[in-house]
Amino acid sequence: MPRRNDLENRALQIVMGKGSEGILQSDLWRELKANSRDGSRISLKLEVKNLIKREKEMSNGRWTYRLFVKRHPLEIDSVLDIPCVTCPDIPKCEAGGEVSPALCENLTHWLLSLTDTEKSPKVA
Ligand code: SF4
Repeated sequence: MPRRNDLENRALQIVMGKGSEGILQSDLWRELKANSRDGSRISLKLEVKNLIKREKEMSNGRWTYRLFVKRHPLEIDSVLDIPCVTCPDIPKCEAGGEVSPALCENLTHWLLSLTDTEKSPKVA
């Protein structure tokens, strides 16, 4: 019998793998080979830890929950063109300093460019 934390970790990995589609709680139980009581407990624990969110959904005539991961790992491509990567001022750039991210026009332009859905950070 897997340890409780192992099941939680596996559950989180499975939910993360489903991306924006999410997964029905009952399907998660099946993938974990857990019973409904353990499956509910695990998904509740992950929600309390703020790692997933649960949205109520009708499936096959019964109410259940669809689970979504709250934090998506970034793909490296989504941040490769951040201006800081090639900035000559990076050694002296710090919060509250003469050169700082809060005052940087290049960083501001880059952040604003992310509002274009084509360039928004992609989830793995
Ligand atoms: S925030 Fe601006 S100044 Fe600072 S490292 Fe990035 S690009 Fe350079």
